[in-house]
Amino acid sequence: MKWGLVYSHGFAQFSYGENHPFKLARAERFYQLLERNQLLSDPDIDLIRPEPAPEPLLLVPHSPAYLQALRDAEKGEFKLEMLKFGLGSEDCPVFPGVYQFVRLACGASFEAVYRVMEGKQNFVFNPVGGFHHAKRSYAEGFCYVNDINLIGHLLLLQGYKVAYLDFDAHHGNGVQDEFYSDPNFLFISFHENGKYLYPGVGFETEMGAGAGLGFNVNVPMEPGADDEVFLYLYKELVPPLLEAFKPDFGIVLFGADAMLADPLTHLRLSNNSLADVAHDLKQRLKRWVGLGAGGYNLEETARTWALVWATVTGQEDQTDMTGLGGVFLASSEMGAAGFRDLRGYSSGPEKDRAMEEARRVAIYIKRNIFSKVGAK
Ligand SMILES: [Zn+2]
Repeated sequence: MKWGLVYSHGFAQFSYGENHPFKLARAERFYQLLERNQLLSDPDIDLIRPEPAPEPLLLVPHSPAYLQALRDAEKGEFKLEMLKFGLGSEDCPVFPGVYQFVRLACGASFEAVYRVMEGKQNFVFNPVGGFHHAKRSYAEGFCYVNDINLIGHLLLLQGYKVAYLDFDAHHGNGVQDEFYSDPNFLFISFHENGKYLYPGVGFETEMGAGAGLGFNVNVPMEPGADDEVFLYLYKELVPPLLEAFKPDFGIVLFGADAMLADPLTHLRLSNNSLADVAHDLKQRLKRWVGLGAGGYNLEETARTWALVWATVTGQEDQTDMTGLGGVFLASSEMGAAGFRDLRGYSSGPEKDRAMEEARRVAIYIKRNIFSKVGAK
């Protein structure tokens, strides 16, 4: 097995603004954690420096008019007409270098996929990727350019069957819209129920259309869902779906905003959940990329990605250097500590409701989707 990490210190020069929750510093912090814990030194690990995506590639997921508006926003000067493209909103501010930033982020996801397609690596991780909310002509939810839709289309063009697994706390609406009718793109999104959180969609009843009916799987979770709820849903749904679909390629979003420590969502997972997922998926997907996506507690996000990285690359022992839970160490010196949170199990009426709802959603998906994908 060979693994790659795509990262450039160049990302650190960009900023959505001082008070914006999306911090590029979390990727730099993640990189430092890997370096400090010798998690990049294995000879089977390649460190890959991304190049900005060539402009024509961005036309795969976006309209020319939208790209022109993004180019116009490059200097960081807001113009009223940009708002019709979602640019200059509170979520998607116009900032200096925004076009360079999105080209570099897309270039990183493109390079990750290209490497794996070429057979140089089995898995490549891009922490600054997974912008799952961006639409064809519209920026939203901190996302300007949809790197997933870019690589998704490129993989489909090569004849691959693609499994997309999105563990970010927000529903992957921009990706769902793009591949809703495509039976070669299996979309699976775990997220906080849209009744309580942006983008307000992603219900289990959205199952795809036409030839793609059944290949769009939404797994909404109630506020307060913890590791037990999440892992119950994962085990009930993901293995049978993947076994039936038999993907050639996986795109996995390891968003860290479903964690208890995240300030923007109401889920209560610990990062052990994503480590368990990484452990399971590395046996199911022989060729795949991981993308960072959301995560708004900077230290928790960096540690979660480091834990996922260590798990996929078989270096877990280097993450367990302390018996204490990382939660207690979150604001102190973490480079020398373990990356794991304490397991997040809660109890009480909120948890009971989350579990009950999870059982209902699992039954709904098994009844209405499994037979369409050939899952048992
Ligand atoms: Zn998110």
